[in-house]
Amino acid sequence: MSKFLHPVDVAEAVATSRHIAPDFVPEDVPADCATGRVLCEDVIAREDIPGFDRSVVDGFAVNFEDTTGSSESIPALLNCGGRVSMGAPEQGLVVSRGRCAYIPTGGVLPEGADAVIMVEHTERAGDTVLVKRPVVYGENVLFHDEDYRRGAVILQAGRRLTPQDTGVLAACGRTSVAVARRPVIGIISTGNELVPVTATPGPGQVRDANASMLAAYLNEYGCDPLHYGIVRDEYRSFEDALSKALPECDAILISGGSSKDDRDMTAGVIAGNGEVLVHGITLAPGKPTIIGRIGTTPVFGLPGHPASAYVVLIVVVLPLISHMLGEKKPCLRTTRAVLGDSLPSQKGREEYIRVRLEERIAYPVFGKSGLLNTLVNSDGLVCIPAGCEGLEKGCEVDVILW
Ligand code: AMP
Ligand code: MG
Repeated sequence: MSKFLHPVDVAEAVATSRHIAPDFVPEDVPADCATGRVLCEDVIAREDIPGFDRSVVDGFAVNFEDTTGSSESIPALLNCGGRVSMGAPEQGLVVSRGRCAYIPTGGVLPEGADAVIMVEHTERAGDTVLVKRPVVYGENVLFHDEDYRRGAVILQAGRRLTPQDTGVLAACGRTSVAVARRPVIGIISTGNELVPVTATPGPGQVRDANASMLAAYLNEYGCDPLHYGIVRDEYRSFEDALSKALPECDAILISGGSSKDDRDMTAGVIAGNGEVLVHGITLAPGKPTIIGRIGTTPVFGLPGHPASAYVVLIVVVLPLISHMLGEKKPCLRTTRAVLGDSLPSQKGREEYIRVRLEERIAYPVFGKSGLLNTLVNSDGLVCIPAGCEGLEKGCEVDVILW
């Protein structure tokens, strides 16, 4: 009989994870430091951008109708009435019919003009400008509200800010923005066999790989991971580590000891101090996963095998973290690929297969969950849904990239 009497499916685990997630806490940060952070407010245009009609080329501001029918052999002849300088509208310069004005890139379109002809398509003869091809209304002009109209939503809450976004914020005059505070995530490694990274493992011992790996992922995703070291497989040691972590963290990950053996402490300690909401997920790798809560703090029990812990982090923990950041769903990079090999799967569990990408073909990287090399030699994961007995070679899949 299964050790997990009531394993839940991934959808339920994810729903539980999001349900217990604390809400995001906004904080103002300088716009220049906001790249990668998740916006908590809609950024609204306070004025039209660019705010005035401007030329996008060096050329002559014209009435487009004056250029209709012009060509190399029969140019339109316009009288040049002046020159636009940069940075301010030219006072008194009006481009009436039959006239034009020189305008540099970015210059304010003078009154009366409605298009710009590139200087390359003109020839100058004293005050006369020969226009050798027609332009249409608005050609080479950026209108005053063409980038953003006053009142428009420029950037929506929940968006992860990119470097381009910070450029837009600057253009809007925003020096600071409200973003979600980086959640503090405690990491506790468990196992009598674990030694710190700095130690030389004795017989039967391994270094703690998970804490570093989980912390690196969390840090990159936008959290502040906090390490609480390695604890022995003893109830009291778990409780001691948790009592340190609970007041300092928004959520806690306990790696190892999440199964149902007598030596597995995680579920018992969470139940003894709070509640276990999920113990066992129809997920592979990652079945022995715990979702619980102590007070209002979410506490996860992750399987000790590094590949399992990593998959659970991405599939089950990330939905909680993305909620804590104000995202609608986790921000995962994916790509389409074609399967390079068939993937058999057991029906009734959602399976995540590590794959290596080669020119858009995804080759499975098989290997036990305890192997670190499969994580390093792969580019991401392919999901085989629970209701599916496998995926055929040649079918199109989404790859969740690391
Ligand atoms: P457990 O989930 O505690 O039964 O551990 C399953 C396997 O994962 C065991 O072989 C552990 O030694 C290994 N393991 C547990 N925690 C870690 C860790 N932090 N780093 C590397 N391997 C670990
Ligand atoms: Mg263990």
